[in-house]
Amino acid sequence: MSWGFETDADFQKELDWVEAFVREEVEPLQHVLGSPYDLNQPGFERLVRPLQQRVKERKLWACHLGADLGGPGYGQMKLALLNEILGRASFAPVVFGCQAPDTGNAEILAHFGTPAQKKRFLEPLLENRIVSCFAMTEPQGGADPKVLTTKAVRQGDEWVISGQKWFASNARFAAFYIVMAVTDPEAPPYQRMSMFIVPADTPGIEIKRNVGWGADHVPSHGYLEFHDVRVPADHMLGPQGGAFVVAQVRLGGGRIHHAMRTIGQARRALDMMCERVLSRFTQGELLAKKQMVQEKIADSWIELEQFRLLVLRTAWLCDRHNDYKLVRKDIAAVKAAMPKVLHDIASRALHLHGSIGISNEMPFAEQVLASYFLALADGPTEVHKVTVAQQVLSGYRGTTELFPAYHVPQVEAAARAKFADVVAEIEEAMQG
Ligand SMILES: Cc1cc2nc3c(=O)[nH]c(=O)nc-3n(C[C@H](O)[C@H](O)[C@H](O)COP(=O)(O)OP(=O)(O)OC[C@H]3O[C@@H](n4cnc5c(N)ncnc54)[C@H](O)[C@@H]3O)c2cc1C
Repeated sequence: MSWGFETDADFQKELDWVEAFVREEVEPLQHVLGSPYDLNQPGFERLVRPLQQRVKERKLWACHLGADLGGPGYGQMKLALLNEILGRASFAPVVFGCQAPDTGNAEILAHFGTPAQKKRFLEPLLENRIVSCFAMTEPQGGADPKVLTTKAVRQGDEWVISGQKWFASNARFAAFYIVMAVTDPEAPPYQRMSMFIVPADTPGIEIKRNVGWGADHVPSHGYLEFHDVRVPADHMLGPQGGAFVVAQVRLGGGRIHHAMRTIGQARRALDMMCERVLSRFTQGELLAKKQMVQEKIADSWIELEQFRLLVLRTAWLCDRHNDYKLVRKDIAAVKAAMPKVLHDIASRALHLHGSIGISNEMPFAEQVLASYFLALADGPTEVHKVTVAQQVLSGYRGTTELFPAYHVPQVEAAARAKFADVVAEIEEAMQG
């Protein structure tokens, strides 16, 4: 029997170090630098690289990776505890070498890449010498990948890619894109597409616009057009027609890692909310004394703790099964729950801070908007709820009987039959 809620003492020491390091060294970066993915921006080398070096010396670099890929192989449980600290600061994932979407892209390169692909694309990616982009969504649809039309046609030793991609995060900073394209239009829907590694300097790639979401400081979601972009045949990643299988490998981890970091964001909002209500007087008393304020604090704490337990349990299941497919329901549940937790806690924090809370001098409006980002990126909430429901329902069977077996009169009759002797005695005693 093992069922515990404690972090082992050695790892707790690491977490304590991370907590202080992120607070003192990493959190300030977002106030003086631009996008964490812009490796060429002024100041990146001087401010970020030395911190990455300290993380490496501490053996906390790329904790999502096993030893074979240069990480410590901590597994998802430890990663969850680490990521909930990193979630507090936008530069922390880059400083610790575990930023999305590079983590997911590294995962599929590690799983499906050829030795040559790993050497050219994976190795520099793991070192954060380059960043990458995942281009699947198209302007006509993202939630249903069956509507995607960007195609790749084989010509001799090359594939020629044409079509548009939408909201391809960090396209403007990436050294390569992983692009999903139709290669087998006549095949069944989930075997029509293949994945390609496309170096960003390949002729024919046009960044039509860099789109930002509501609170983006540096708009960086690429609206891309591929005009007959030619890549060598060996730039296909994984098998022909295998894009969905490849994509699933990256999305499982990506979704739960976002959730781990979301705990950090939501806790940050809760911390600020608590400090504020213990500081602000209204009508002669602290805000914290008012019951409607207390309800907001209590609801926020309860929702955060419930969510955290779901994330940690899912991380534990990931470690146990070592196969995201077997944890599909749990990951979908975490993905569906995540936006609401951040939305509700950040909204309460915003509201309890009053006018300063909604101002651009506080992070809450950005957090509320980020909750919508989390509800869309890696697939909308509705789709994940459908997955949860289907998986839950797969454990049940309906009945063809007129009344269900749990109908009280039937259950009662069965109980009376089971205990017939004693029931007769009880009834006799009652009559006497
Ligand atoms: C910040 C951010 C970063 C992103 N980064 C990337 C990236 O790097 N690469 C990439 O390829 N894509 C990326 N995306 C795109 C993302 O994957 C899509 O936004 C998402 O899959 C939804 O697709 P869509 O935007 O086309 O919305 P649509 O497919 O048009 O869906 C719109 C809405 O319809 C509803 N809906 C959809 N399907 C169902 C259903 N089955 N049942 C009920 N309701 C439904 C939902 O409310 C949904 O929000 C990113 C998105 C965001 C917001």
